[in-house]
Amino acid sequence: MPASVLETPWLEGVEIPCRSQPDLFFAESPADVEAAKALCTGCPVQKQCLADALERREPWGVWGGQLLVGGQVVARKRPRGRPRKNAEPIAA
Ligand code: SF4
Repeated sequence: MPASVLETPWLEGVEIPCRSQPDLFFAESPADVEAAKALCTGCPVQKQCLADALERREPWGVWGGQLLVGGQVVARKRPRGRPRKNAEPIAA
């Protein structure tokens, strides 16, 4: 199983967004997840981070600018709660 690219020796001392705000990268709020994904954009190891996370089948979190759930990239974090059965408002 590949280790996280963050364990690479040459990254010691390099400013990496997920090191300074780790909770954001495992947030429940869809807005926070999108903020974490945006922070990955400037990361020098973004592609390797995503490739390693996919290979490890990371169960959860933002890795390499993508949200992974159960080892798969998902487009968006769903808000908590049960989805509505009927999206139309009920007329009074
Ligand atoms: S790409 Fe994102 S999650 Fe991966 S090391 Fe960089 S900041 Fe962290």
